[in-house]
Amino acid sequence: MIRPVSVGILLCSLLSLASCKSKVQPAILKPLVTSFASPVVLEPQIVTKPDTSLLTPEERKIIFLQKSGSHSYWRQEEAIHYDVRKPNFVIIHHTAQDSISQTIKTFQIPRTKVSSHYVIGRNGEIIQMLNDYVRSWHAGVAKWGSIVDMNSCSIGIELDNNGREPFPDAQINSLMTVLDTLKSRYLIPTNNFIGHADIAPARKNDPSVFFPWKKLADRGFGIWYDEGQLVAPPDGFNAIDALKIIGYDTSNLKAAIVAFKRKFVVRDTTPELTIYDKSVLYSIYKKY
Ligand SMILES: [Zn+2]
Repeated sequence: MIRPVSVGILLCSLLSLASCKSKVQPAILKPLVTSFASPVVLEPQIVTKPDTSLLTPEERKIIFLQKSGSHSYWRQEEAIHYDVRKPNFVIIHHTAQDSISQTIKTFQIPRTKVSSHYVIGRNGEIIQMLNDYVRSWHAGVAKWGSIVDMNSCSIGIELDNNGREPFPDAQINSLMTVLDTLKSRYLIPTNNFIGHADIAPARKNDPSVFFPWKKLADRGFGIWYDEGQLVAPPDGFNAIDALKIIGYDTSNLKAAIVAFKRKFVVRDTTPELTIYDKSVLYSIYKKY
């Protein structure tokens, strides 16, 4: 589990175990320990293994990734143009816990195997726990469109909220600040600000019905239907296909419908689509 560290320190620890230079260099999986990164060895060589007993768990993890991601039986040449990864989605969660300290602790205990990039408190405090460029473990088994590894392409934001209470203005305002920063920094498309329940409808229900999706959409984070201009969908409109086109995994159709309604209909989360629900769905579908 990676400890809460500043962006600079984290990047440095990711990029260089040997020396933490102030100038960040994009080299997370660049071979840092030569004995792990040798190109094909044609003659026997005496290799001195590094003393790993002095390394922190995260440093050992980086070395493990370097070893497991490098196929030394193929010729090794080093390209110089790359980066770690760039987020293209933001996934919003509620913690379902009672305090921000409880959540921070959860993300620091080795056995939990969960984390998120940001945690935002009820009072609006923003805590960054992972660098934006690293892969957090917040999505779990999930699917959106054809993407099944949501952790690899997204940033996870946890809102301190037990799931049964409204989200205070201070918290939402801070969330907007974070979203604004992420959207402009990484050019994240408007449609790609979604919730955990969207990508894992059969397992998750966060964020809850209290989450103000319309308010976010008004600021360019996610989409909303055209209120006041709803029309009945045309004959032949296929609601299941529409849900799929938006991104929902409809393999559990009732769960997908509930996730859709929790977000867009709110007052009714039964697992059937009424005429009204279909008009909302049609309005959203047309935006894709
Ligand atoms: Zn979640």
